[in-house]
Amino acid sequence: MKIADMFKNTNRAIFSLEVFPPKKTSPIESVYGKLGELCKLKPDFISVTYGAGGTGVQNRTCEIASKIKNDFGIESVAHLTCINNTKADIDAILEDFKNNNIENILALRGDYIDGVEPKEDFRYAFELCGYIKSKGSFDVAGACYPETHIESEDEVQDILNLKKKVESGAEHLISQLFFDNSCFYRFLERTKIAGINVPIEAGIMPVTNKSQIERMVSMCGASLPAKFTKIMQKYDSKPEALRDAGIAYAVEQIVDLLANGVDGIHLYTMNNPYVAAKISEAVSNLL
Ligand code: FAD
Repeated sequence: MKIADMFKNTNRAIFSLEVFPPKKTSPIESVYGKLGELCKLKPDFISVTYGAGGTGVQNRTCEIASKIKNDFGIESVAHLTCINNTKADIDAILEDFKNNNIENILALRGDYIDGVEPKEDFRYAFELCGYIKSKGSFDVAGACYPETHIESEDEVQDILNLKKKVESGAEHLISQLFFDNSCFYRFLERTKIAGINVPIEAGIMPVTNKSQIERMVSMCGASLPAKFTKIMQKYDSKPEALRDAGIAYAVEQIVDLLANGVDGIHLYTMNNPYVAAKISEAVSNLL
């Protein structure tokens, strides 16, 4: 099923999960157990990330998205990045998706990688959105940034660029993670002012260890509310307490977002079924 139709056919919030393929050095089967557990939570869909630069990992995106959909019976979304792919590469990947019954794609630019010269066919995600749309019947989603994309000169330009992505075919958006809901609400206001009217899912990452926070914040620049940093400092050296506090913080964020009528919640699971299950159980009656 196309995710855009899911949004059209329901009046409740969509609940989705995100997973990543295993490293090239691990067998693909190493994630199947975790995928099975995540699928038992019955999310509306599961999206599978795409390794921007590595060879081989991208095929695993297709394989895992196919497993989720065709073996576990949960709708899947395959991520696809474009700066390191030519049109011919993208054509081959789309063919692979089609052959595996994958109907939904999150079209991304991808990050620049040191030492890797980007290909020249696509510079921005909006070009990939338009290209995929021109190629057939895929549902296309795009990424969005409540606290503005890290490379963007300002939030106005970022929103105008986002509008272009929607006009090029992105039928719904999934947000970058954030820890301060007020940033997301201000972002929603900016999208409304700009006339962006597609459903927007809020990206929530339960933080369950300290190195994860440092990595995420340096990568995406999410602001950390004082309440959040206090919890992280207090339980810094107690892994189980930190994990439980991270789950509680994410649940509180989600309850507030649902009460404020968000279109959907996209949970960055970090391939951790225990954490995803705790959160799913806590919010399932609120959707
Ligand atoms: P774009 O929408 O192209 O935006 C990139 C920058 O260019 C922004 O600053 C934007 O304002 C600017 N821009 C856009 N259009 C124009 C224009 N016409 N003129 C000038 N400037 C413009 N990365 C992966 O490698 N694999 C993944 O699986 C993956 N999954 C992700 C999932 C989500 C939900 C999110 C939020 C991010 C994900 N990323 C992933 C990271 C993503 O690739 C990076 O954030 C990347 O830097 C930007 O990708 P984008 O698709 O948002 O790019």
